[in-house]
Amino acid sequence: MRTTRLWRRVLGVEQTVIESVDLQTDARGQESLLARVRVKAGAARRCSRCQRRCPGYDTGPDPRRWRGLDLGTTQVFLQATTSRVSCSEHGVVVAAVPWARPGSRFTTAFEDTAAWLVCHATLSVVAMLLRVAWRSVADIVTRVVAERAARTDRLGGLRRIGIDEISYRKGQRYLLVIVDHDTGRLVWAGKNRNAATLNRFFDDLGGERAGQLTHVSADGAQWIHDVVAARAPAAVVCLDAFHVVAWATEALDQVRRAMVNRLRANGHHDEATALKGSRWALLKNRPNLTGDQRTTLAGIAKANGGLYRAYLLKEQLRAIFQAAELADARPLLGGWIAWASRCRLEPFVKLAKTIKKHQALILNAVEHGLSNARSEATNTHLRLLTRRAYGYHSPEALIAMADLTRGGLCPPLPGRS
Ligand SMILES: [Zn+2]
Repeated sequence: MRTTRLWRRVLGVEQTVIESVDLQTDARGQESLLARVRVKAGAARRCSRCQRRCPGYDTGPDPRRWRGLDLGTTQVFLQATTSRVSCSEHGVVVAAVPWARPGSRFTTAFEDTAAWLVCHATLSVVAMLLRVAWRSVADIVTRVVAERAARTDRLGGLRRIGIDEISYRKGQRYLLVIVDHDTGRLVWAGKNRNAATLNRFFDDLGGERAGQLTHVSADGAQWIHDVVAARAPAAVVCLDAFHVVAWATEALDQVRRAMVNRLRANGHHDEATALKGSRWALLKNRPNLTGDQRTTLAGIAKANGGLYRAYLLKEQLRAIFQAAELADARPLLGGWIAWASRCRLEPFVKLAKTIKKHQALILNAVEHGLSNARSEATNTHLRLLTRRAYGYHSPEALIAMADLTRGGLCPPLPGRS
């Protein structure tokens, strides 16, 4: 095997001439491998946007470097002179290179590996393993997603969708996200939670495909219901179970916080601290409780009737969504509203009014079995994504990250067939 062919294989590049390979040492004594390369004649002078062959325009004054996948523990860089071409459609643009995406300082193999890792490991692991800054990972994800999204139609064949919003920047900004209930995949995301954004989704979907939607779930926001009624009039509208349970969880937490404050105000500091520590026992779903948390709950049942009542109200509401039959759910929900209305716990009295208003939409969700675990898992994942303190520099970066990890756009690892 000739040495250049061997290097081409090792560096994972095609349509490339390897001119030389050297070890070099940087100012900090770090060794890296530098391969000087050029594009093979057959692949040279192509527009980086349309890949068409074009007349050359000029050549960059300085060679440029791209980071490649490490060889063992040694960092690898490709170095080449860049040139520009004059495309009849795109004007003067940088010429395509076969080893990297346009505008990137990493090879395609490096970027695909990084994107795959982002889908399968925590970002701190990715950054440490690949020795890249978080900002670079975000840029890589944006490029990989743009390329892969252009090749797939993610809005084809949709029948049952969930419309949801997720907040980022500490709840100051919002994304509107559309999840496919049948696959659990994120299929669309846009900036801002408002009717204009939702209308943009329906514009992308098109009238024919909107007509094929059978079910749309959402939270209680009226503007969502108005847009859906106008753009997908045939779809049954439901209220997502996890929104309703989240409302009850919030009401329960309000009751608990009020009691902690009252105990503290009356000088019962030990009881206040104990109650503060009970948060997870109260908020967790009952089957997931640990032994200690069960003991905490039993203690609350004995000593703190109001709080325990709030806990039972939350659990009861959750149970309604587990009813298999509409005939069972209807009286359960009616009974819950009656109980909550006169429970003398202000947050639940308020919640009872909200639930009453949305009764029909809640029963729709039970009737059509739309309490879907897969789409809920996607929503939980998206919330985790935004809660981490990565400082997304743009909503586009956050959308790309969501598309990559939950939109089915994860690339395969390079070199595996
Ligand atoms: Zn072009």
